[in-house]
Amino acid sequence: QAKNEGRNCFKYFSEELTRAARERIGTEFRLRQAIEKNEFRLFYQPQLCVGTGDIVGAEALIRWQTSGELIPPLKFIPIAEETGLITGIGNWVLNEACRQGKAWLDAGLPPIRIAVNLSPHQFLHNDICAIVANTLAETGFPAEYLELELTESALMKREKEAIDILNRLHDLGIHLAIDDFGTGYSSLAYLKSFPLDVLKIDKSFIDDIPMQSDDMEITATIIAMAKTLRMQVIAEGVETPAQMAFLSSRNCDFYQGYFASKPLPADEFESFLKQHRPLPVS
Ligand code: C2E
Ligand code: MG
Ligand code: MG
Ligand code: MG
Repeated sequence: QAKNEGRNCFKYFSEELTRAARERIGTEFRLRQAIEKNEFRLFYQPQLCVGTGDIVGAEALIRWQTSGELIPPLKFIPIAEETGLITGIGNWVLNEACRQGKAWLDAGLPPIRIAVNLSPHQFLHNDICAIVANTLAETGFPAEYLELELTESALMKREKEAIDILNRLHDLGIHLAIDDFGTGYSSLAYLKSFPLDVLKIDKSFIDDIPMQSDDMEITATIIAMAKTLRMQVIAEGVETPAQMAFLSSRNCDFYQGYFASKPLPADEFESFLKQHRPLPVS
């Protein structure tokens, strides 16, 4: 009896696995054609000054518009990363963000910085410096307005190489940010040796402020540490007035989150930008 149940159980799991595997292969197949079919979109989430509410920048976030659905990045970026498709997708994102940024500048909108996420594969397995330099040249978007976001895992995989790439990117005049800070393994010593301009505190530390006093202490410590390292610091996933009050009391520079706005399609972001005072890019 027990043996039979075990077998049914196995059958059940293997059917589940097959379903998951089939779904994944289907996604990969459709992902391969998504660029040609022009199915990717960039949304833009405003980044604001905690103290004044001035707008300082926007993070570009990819969406996949396919068969009537708007698919979020966590459903396809990991697959793209594993299959190497991220190279083509990442290049599209970089080009589209720079093209849009230049179009906004040409339209006379206030200059703000646009942040683009780079995956570890993109960062380590391509000549990312040449790709970025070419994209800036082709689109005419000024380097000073581009920011690249890297995760701790991208930086920690091969630290020596990473430092070298970051230095070359910095020499182009672009801004560099560490994303999801606090969720990876980077040590303070490493952080010090990377030429980073911006530290983004991961949403998971912000979520339970003010209920969790340890999250408040960790956040305050990260802010203080960023200042010691002369980095700008931005809190991610800010949703409530209480979180804002706390960040303000600890002199956090910037924030991003639903409290100000969700990520917006380009035209809606443009309206948002027109309704806010811009902080000059520095
Ligand atoms: P991320 O870079 O940490 O981006 C922040 C994510 O938090 C975004 O999710 C954003 O919509 C979400 N978020 C911002 N504020 C709030 C808030 O107040 N509440 C809540 N609940 N969520 C908030 P999204 O757009 O789904 O992106 C998820 C992740 O996918 C990104 O995390 C990033 O790691 C990755 N990603 C997005 N676009 C790209 C891309 O173009 N290239 C690469 N390589 N990765 C990307
Ligand atoms: Mg990011
Ligand atoms: Mg993040
Ligand atoms: Mg994240």
